[in-house]
Amino acid sequence: MEKIDILSLSLNEIENILVGNNEKKFRALQIYDWLHVKRCTEFSQMTNLSAQLRGLLTGIFCINTLKIKKKLESYTDNTVKYLYQLNDDNYIETVLMEYNHGYSICISTQVGCKMGCKFCASTKAGFKRDLTPAEMLLQIYETERDAGIKISSVVLMGIGEPLDNYDNTIKFLELLSSEKGTNMSLRHVSLSTCGLVDRINQLADLNTA
Ligand code: SF4
Repeated sequence: MEKIDILSLSLNEIENILVGNNEKKFRALQIYDWLHVKRCTEFSQMTNLSAQLRGLLTGIFCINTLKIKKKLESYTDNTVKYLYQLNDDNYIETVLMEYNHGYSICISTQVGCKMGCKFCASTKAGFKRDLTPAEMLLQIYETERDAGIKISSVVLMGIGEPLDNYDNTIKFLELLSSEKGTNMSLRHVSLSTCGLVDRINQLADLNTA
């Protein structure tokens, strides 16, 4: 059975799986804190959980990771471009920028892009696949870990059209803004689109729901 990437799950979803396995609901919050606040990468690091529960987690879930394949640092400012390797050996780019008000990150939402904007290199090799919510979050987590900084704003303007990966993008935004996790205000997030009108309307409706 393929393991579930726990970093893509909401707190509620983790609770439901735990309760379905006869575990206490409150354990989900401890696990969520280890993943999104303490940012641990292995279940064995979750020292306030029993060995039995850690064994159960290892059997059901995996914790996704990204590897830094290449890092380019600007000579003129503190901008750093990361080439991240995904678990299936696809690659994405992420850019860390330093401003007076703090650090901002530009993340990718897909491997390649099918939109075909004439000026854009990201579309030249075609579209391979959507990124998962975890793979979007990990661009922030791994960059913060590598640079030893805290990112204060996020721009969805890297490789891919975020609204063409609508469900995963919305889930990423929910995880990013979760009070029990990274807790970033969505006022600090910008989403760039080439103009998928139906999806823009769908996104606008979410705000008024
Ligand atoms: S939608 Fe964005 S990533 Fe895709 S081709 Fe257009 S500019 Fe490039």
